[in-house]
Amino acid sequence: MPDVTSKPVHHDIIVIGGGVVGMSIAFRLVKEGREVALIEPNELGMGASYGNAGTIADYATIPVGTPNVLRNLPSLLFDRNSPLSLPYRTLPSLMPWLLEFFYQSLPKQAENNAQRIGALLKNASDMWRELSLELGASHHLHRRGCLYLYESNKAFAAAKYDERLRRQNGVAVDVITADEVLRHEPNLQPFEGGAHFFPDATSIDNPGEVMKIFARNLVERGITIHPTSAVSIDDSDGTRINVHCTDRVVQANKVIVAAGAFSKPLARSAGETVRLDTERGYHLEFDMDTPPVTRPVCSAKRGLYASPMVGRLRIAGTVELGGLSLPQSEHRLKMLERGARDMFPALGEPSRTWFGFRPSMPDSVPVIRATKHNKNVIMAFGHGHIGVTLAPTTAAIVSDLVKLG
Ligand SMILES: Cc1cc2nc3c(=O)[nH]c(=O)nc-3n(C[C@H](O)[C@H](O)[C@H](O)COP(=O)(O)OP(=O)(O)OC[C@H]3O[C@@H](n4cnc5c(N)ncnc54)[C@H](O)[C@@H]3O)c2cc1C
Repeated sequence: MPDVTSKPVHHDIIVIGGGVVGMSIAFRLVKEGREVALIEPNELGMGASYGNAGTIADYATIPVGTPNVLRNLPSLLFDRNSPLSLPYRTLPSLMPWLLEFFYQSLPKQAENNAQRIGALLKNASDMWRELSLELGASHHLHRRGCLYLYESNKAFAAAKYDERLRRQNGVAVDVITADEVLRHEPNLQPFEGGAHFFPDATSIDNPGEVMKIFARNLVERGITIHPTSAVSIDDSDGTRINVHCTDRVVQANKVIVAAGAFSKPLARSAGETVRLDTERGYHLEFDMDTPPVTRPVCSAKRGLYASPMVGRLRIAGTVELGGLSLPQSEHRLKMLERGARDMFPALGEPSRTWFGFRPSMPDSVPVIRATKHNKNVIMAFGHGHIGVTLAPTTAAIVSDLVKLG
């Protein structure tokens, strides 16, 4: 039972959620001399921030919703084997998110969203490089570029749209043939179509280990960690803000909501209705000394990344609009495995599997701002497919918002 009789512990700043976004914010604020506490019920960094494809995707200016996706939506949603799935039972609860997603996929909205995402991504790689040096994790970052395969002539032709949006937003893209791809990555199978190569892209070779290093740095810098779940935020008490948790109440001058896909009820308790939902994603890992690719390779057709990691190949991806409570789908894992074997026929059995929750907004643009009612309650969630990439950028924006308040 929560002990409501004792006086709440007071902090300067509380960050709710210890994923890559919350940890980046906490790290930045403590470096700037603030006293910071983090509320996180699980091991730090072990949500979506653990299971991703490890790309610092500063080329990822294209929102999930585009006219191309809208055009192909019926086959994407109703083909069980497409990279996008929607379990029917989640349809009623997902309808407001989906309607907004349809709207945001219209040509003008998609271009506008690409521009907003592009502006956020501008310095993402440099910021990660700087952060990794401060953390002592720079040996886990590699600048080897990233390949995006469009595996049919039709898909490659349609990718001209992506190319234009990327170039408009300052991304360096080399458009290359399938044969050139095989010269870069000879272990891939021959395919029809072509690819985009992002020569400047950086990737992380062990996201879980980088999260552990991050967590150690926070502890060493004296951040208080409350190992509990936040339930609601209450600012009715004048200048101080109470965060009600499952087993305690903690108090602060400022509160940052960074609980990834789980942030919606917390934002609601602070007076904000946000269209946050989740795109569930999966990964499979195949242990091996030398992965068959030297850089992350995205297969657009299969909706997956093949990412080389320390001692293993990680196959990560698929989008499942299934909410936070359904169990993992064995069908999705099988699909991912089939996709992996298509790409690399010599693979053995997977060594482990994982699924997790991308925190997703219908326009693919994260929410990074103060609440309308209280400038001391700041929201930092909804990073979708690019939360790792944008974590240091988000921390910089939050730091400015904290200084403004
Ligand atoms: C398959 C897959 C591949 C991906 N690939 C990439 C990629 O290559 N590059 C990229 O940039 N991004 C990628 N992403 C997206 C990226 O992983 C996420 O956007 C990012 O991890 C989100 O970080 P976060 O800190 O917001 O959320 P999380 O990492 O999920 O952290 C949220 C934290 O909040 C905690 N929490 C939840 N509820 C509460 C509560 N009530 N109180 C306190 N704490 C709470 C959770 O325990 C968790 O630790 C991928 C995602 C998936 C699923």
